[in-house]
Amino acid sequence: MTINEQSSDPKGLIFNIQRYSTEDGPGIRTTVFLKGCPLSCLWCSNPESQLHKPQMLYFKNTCVKCYSCVEVCPTGANQKKEDGSLWVDRELCTGCGACVQACLANARSVSGNWMTVSEVFDIVSKDSLYYANSGGGITLGGGECTSQPKFALELLSRCYDRGIHTCIDTCGYTPWSVLEEILKKVDLVLFDIKHLDSRKHKEYTGVDNQLILDNAAKIKKMGKEIIIRIPLIPGYNFDEKNITAAGRFMKLWGLERVDILPYHRLGVSKYYALGQGYPLEELKSLSKEEIQEAVKILESFGLNVGVV
Ligand code: SF4
Ligand code: SF4
Repeated sequence: MTINEQSSDPKGLIFNIQRYSTEDGPGIRTTVFLKGCPLSCLWCSNPESQLHKPQMLYFKNTCVKCYSCVEVCPTGANQKKEDGSLWVDRELCTGCGACVQACLANARSVSGNWMTVSEVFDIVSKDSLYYANSGGGITLGGGECTSQPKFALELLSRCYDRGIHTCIDTCGYTPWSVLEEILKKVDLVLFDIKHLDSRKHKEYTGVDNQLILDNAAKIKKMGKEIIIRIPLIPGYNFDEKNITAAGRFMKLWGLERVDILPYHRLGVSKYYALGQGYPLEELKSLSKEEIQEAVKILESFGLNVGVV
């Protein structure tokens, strides 16, 4: 697979553009979040990012039961039940956004907006001065940004060719031929590694880890700057064996820098707003001491460890 179809201004499905971001690479950045991901990690904090289509979120606690959404819905997806409660038939919902416009209580939103590269670039380039002064730039995140390769490559090219520092935050599950082409316009790669055990990786994320580990090694080999990112999820990948395996893998391939991302519960309400249950409802956050244990193990391999 290669990125062979040329369009000067392709469209991408975007679910967020965050200006003045400081956690997705160096300096002050604009992070563009692309929708759609080949993985479905149980702990994903952006569940609205996973499907490559617009999705409507309904925040029940904010709803004042005016039923305007029922009246405007063109597909009958919004339904008022006998007890007065509202039900959304997700099979019928197209994510058209009519109910978002009608809802004066702000109980609804749509995740996913088709935008051209030019439209996104206009927003990104507004902060060029901040990038220049802080050593920042643009970061493409997701979802998985490389799963929309034409859009990602064109947006990165426009920034890179104008001297804006470019970064991608990737799950690494991308054919090498596609990733290699995108990397030509990338200064820094933030590369997620979730689990070193292939069977557990598949169980928790839906895919095995071979392609991901191969790609991490190849990126390092081509001399590209790469920072490994490991989400630490208690009961899933937060154990000595896995963290040691991660340290050993990094040492083997000369990967020097790792950021750990301790589990948090910030995305939980979005699962319910999407009409899904949250699979890790019982999980608690890690203590400072537990996070330090992981840091120590990784540092014992001589790695430069950060906590995000
Ligand atoms: S997004 Fe459109 S189809 Fe979905 S519930 Fe709202 S109005 Fe209906
Ligand atoms: S329009 Fe908003 S406030 Fe009114 S019933 Fe629908 S979701 Fe609730």
